[in-house]
Amino acid sequence: MHFTHDGKTYEYTIVRKRIKNIILHVRADGTVYVSAPPAAPESVIHAFVTDNAGRLVQQIAQNQKHREDAPDYADGSALLHLGETITLHWSERPCPTRLEQDVLTVFARSPEEARLAHRRWLIDECVALYRQINREVYTAYTEAGYRVPLARIEIKEMKSRWGSCTAKTGRISMNFRLMQYPIGCVYAVFYHEYAHFMHLDHSADFYAVLRGVFPEYDRWDAILNHK
Ligand SMILES: [Zn+2]
Repeated sequence: MHFTHDGKTYEYTIVRKRIKNIILHVRADGTVYVSAPPAAPESVIHAFVTDNAGRLVQQIAQNQKHREDAPDYADGSALLHLGETITLHWSERPCPTRLEQDVLTVFARSPEEARLAHRRWLIDECVALYRQINREVYTAYTEAGYRVPLARIEIKEMKSRWGSCTAKTGRISMNFRLMQYPIGCVYAVFYHEYAHFMHLDHSADFYAVLRGVFPEYDRWDAILNHK
């Protein structure tokens, strides 16, 4: 089953329980389920969900924000990785950190050890990914006829910016926290910063260059900036 709100579609599942009223739940990972009395018709449940869509979507966003800000790193907890929810699994035996399907296995006996293992792994992933995307974006601009340097990438953890570009020195700073977002968002920030090699401001000319080389820009930027 699904409902829509502000043009976006959300899924939910119905769980039949021996209760009197329909109750809405948003799990920590953002999925929605609805407990409903055994005899409640689906149409009634759906109408109830639709009536409360605004509240549900708010809760989903809050949970997402909470996961981004403060995952608890317990065994079985949810983490966000490139826009997907992955499950943390503590291995009792020493092992390299690895992601298989949507399970991240770390050697940990405490949330703090799990957090550190996740972080070390994520830095390696981030370095490899940003290096690859940097090359792709550089190539895209070059092939579009722009003269840009192959940027030197600095990975930083920033509170208020996703990236920044120092055109003079050919250096781009990229936020480490982008690793929680869909990969399209990471591309969007790279394309944005590269466009600053042509235009330092956010003028119409700047956006013309950016959207010309990366037509999907607005879609991903909207996710990053909660538009
Ligand atoms: Zn900018």
